[in-house]
Amino acid sequence: MIQPSTSLNPLQYSAPTEFDMSNIAQGIELVQQRIVAAAKAANRDPIAITLLAISKTRPEEDIRTAISAGQRHFGENYLQDALPKIDSLRDEFPALCWHFIGAIQSNKTNDIAQHFDWVHTIERLKIARRLSEQRPEGLEPLQICLQVNISDEASKSGVTSKDVFQLAEAIRELPRLRLRGLMAIPVATNDNALQRAAFAKLQALFEQLNQQGFQLDTLSMGMSNDMEAAIAEGSTLVRIGKAIFGART
Ligand SMILES: *Cc1c(COP(=O)(O)O)cnc(C)c1O
Repeated sequence: MIQPSTSLNPLQYSAPTEFDMSNIAQGIELVQQRIVAAAKAANRDPIAITLLAISKTRPEEDIRTAISAGQRHFGENYLQDALPKIDSLRDEFPALCWHFIGAIQSNKTNDIAQHFDWVHTIERLKIARRLSEQRPEGLEPLQICLQVNISDEASKSGVTSKDVFQLAEAIRELPRLRLRGLMAIPVATNDNALQRAAFAKLQALFEQLNQQGFQLDTLSMGMSNDMEAAIAEGSTLVRIGKAIFGART
């Protein structure tokens, strides 16, 4: 097991600024240790928490290093940056799972429907309809999370907590999509109590939807700076960039 080079108070964690290949493997190891520790503290099985490595803006070489370290799920948010990497890696590593986590304009849906396995950032029915229509028949349905604006700020993206039920009902009917869960990006804060309060809101919505008969199994919440709070509130998938690959330039 690789020992952390600095003391790891998770609440004050900040990624090293310079990463080389071995540091990516070490980053994955450290994040996995954080997942295990946070799950334990919350009396949860760490197996229930998927690590999604956010490889946006990173070169293909970094993704290959992460694959060598055992990583299988990768998240991208810039289509133009993602497609060449996916095309280059897909044949060689068919078991990789690609997640789209960026904002979606209508003219991007076709490429997303053809190249990704998951989309975490659905906030409008129009986009969901296009993805369903454009999802190739030979592929599994596209796995979907609805992005919820948990902080209710006018400037933030995501469907409101009020409108999420109606959107979920409509998306449930789309044949080439499978609704799996909810996703949120709360306002950034270092205050653990505030982090937890935001994630608890998303978890409550998730419970309400499941009480209404939706069989959701995915709570996509938690990033490098707040993954412990997210896991404490029931996250099943953490989206981690910096803590694996280093600071983005
Ligand atoms: C960039 C990004 C992340 C990863 O953030 P880090 O702070 O680098 O861990 C997670 N989710 C989304 C939607 C992102 O755009």
